Amino acid sequence: KLYNQVQDLKGNIRVYCRVRPFLPGQSNRASTYDHIDDTSIKIITPSKYGKEGRKSFSFNKVFGPFSTQEEVFTDTQPLIRSVLDGYNVCIFAYGQTGSGKTFTMTGPRDITEESQGVNYRALSDLFLLSEQRKDTISYGISVQMLEIYNEQVRDLLSMDATNKRLEIRNSSQNGINVPDANLVPVSSTSDVIYLMNLGHKNRSVSATAMNDRSSRSHSCLTVHVHGKDLTSGSILRGCMHLVDLAGSERVDKSEVTGDRLKEAQHINKSLSALGDVIASLAQKNSHVPYRNSKLTQLLQDSLGGQAKTLMFVHISPELEALGETLSTLKFAERVS
Ligand code: ADP
Ligand code: MG
Repeated sequence: KLYNQVQDLKGNIRVYCRVRPFLPGQSNRASTYDHIDDTSIKIITPSKYGKEGRKSFSFNKVFGPFSTQEEVFTDTQPLIRSVLDGYNVCIFAYGQTGSGKTFTMTGPRDITEESQGVNYRALSDLFLLSEQRKDTISYGISVQMLEIYNEQVRDLLSMDATNKRLEIRNSSQNGINVPDANLVPVSSTSDVIYLMNLGHKNRSVSATAMNDRSSRSHSCLTVHVHGKDLTSGSILRGCMHLVDLAGSERVDKSEVTGDRLKEAQHINKSLSALGDVIASLAQKNSHVPYRNSKLTQLLQDSLGGQAKTLMFVHISPELEALGETLSTLKFAERVS
């Protein structure tokens, strides 16, 4: 109870840290941490990064390298279920490229039922729960899948895979919306699997030209829920954004030029805009700077107010990743 009150005071922002295991072929390597428990992780900071020692970081939850997709989902489930009660929810995956963001949200390359990530599990859970409530509330669920690349919004569920740029609008009736993006009604897990595959395919269409664009764009699966109370006739709306963010790694400005530099600057700008928004919500500031990026504009009415936010920060275990790991953990500290 006390925990919930504290959460409410902090504007319903939760931060979970997930540590990727070493990949096959990487066994017996030295790692950047020497202790993990349920809510904290201790990072070893070698002399190169200042005085050698340990720095401890605390979170609402820490998932070690052996945590399963199911365990991660179990701690996310209450948030997802609140969408059916009319809350708006944002779930983010943050971290450097290769740290496990897509693994958490979607799963590994060859997905099995056991390795399905939060996105699939969230939708199945919404279907299950809406079915259980069908005698009292009639629900409709529909999804959108967008990509933000270089501050341009693109529809990942468009059949012609064009690069048409979409506008984000704010209307008094529908709140923040992207009227020209496909909004597809779904009623089963297989509908969702079909659409997610289409979205991933559309995302990789541009990847051939741009070489792994997925690490340099944000992808956002948005689930809209509409519910009608069968006795009173009252309507509720909830919305959930599941966001696989662009890689947070800093690129060396002296080494990149042209398009690559422009991409890096856009990513930098939008990730810091997101950090600024969440940090000012956590601090209960009266001014929240939503206007500074497309990402925060798009999510505006699902960040703050009654909305609930969960940030998964991902870290890689390798020593080479220490610099990025520390900067990821500092980002996380700032927003929690
Ligand atoms: P990102 O999306 O942050 O770039 P990925 O999710 O693609 O990172 O993960 C990089 C690699 O590590 C992939 O091969 C992925 O399957 C693997 N991986 C990531 N997290 C885990 C995990 N928790 N358990 C097992 N393998 C993982
Ligand atoms: Mg990824």
